[in-house]
Amino acid sequence: MTDLAGERERLVRSLARNGIGDERVLEAVARVPRERFVPQHLVGDAYADRALPIGEGQTVSQPWVVARMTELLDVRPTDHVLEVGTGSGYQAAVLAQLVHDVVSVERHAPLAESAAARLAELGYGNVRVVLGDASAGYAPDAPYDRIIVTAATPLIHPELAGQLAPGGRLVAPVGSEQVQELIVRHADGREERHGGVQFVPLLGRAGFRRDGERDGPPPGPR
Ligand code: SAH
Repeated sequence: MTDLAGERERLVRSLARNGIGDERVLEAVARVPRERFVPQHLVGDAYADRALPIGEGQTVSQPWVVARMTELLDVRPTDHVLEVGTGSGYQAAVLAQLVHDVVSVERHAPLAESAAARLAELGYGNVRVVLGDASAGYAPDAPYDRIIVTAATPLIHPELAGQLAPGGRLVAPVGSEQVQELIVRHADGREERHGGVQFVPLLGRAGFRRDGERDGPPPGPR
């Protein structure tokens, strides 16, 4: 049998060695059983520091990227947080321990359903998974103290940025479908850049559109 707890500790030490300095973030990663968020046949890779497929052509991000984005979000225990792109629910589980509550939106019904069930089973009672397109945010629960976008986006849509509370901040991978840069956007419009990353694309109304997408027309002349 593999020693998953030992592997998790090793992963946390490697995150610390690789520049994750926020102790609270490291502790949160140390408490989340990532093996529960990956497909059964990949459990042995759960604590490798790399992205893993989770079905529907999507991936759970590399732990270092999850930790880095959480650190950049600079959360407080009272924060009301929006996550765009629930995927497996792993990032939401890490955040759940550090904030008041997380609203996490996912456009793929099977992923939303399994993430919601998994998060409930593991006792993350302050995460609510919503099925839908959140490329332009999720207005019903706005404003948010923090917003995290976990899919590659061509731009930070004004409607999404408009859902930030005063003093809030948003973290997103912004760029092309192939490569993006982590951007921190403050509610007052200031932006910081934090290095290159690779995410699966944000789809839907304000994301990248693709031929054959069911929820939007293919690109055409405007
Ligand atoms: N945070 C996730 C990984 C996200 S992968 C985790 O911890 O596992 C990106 C996810 O964003 C995918 O599941 C994808 O289906 C979802 N997604 C893409 N476009 C979206 C949109 N417009 N609204 C909501 N979710 C979206």
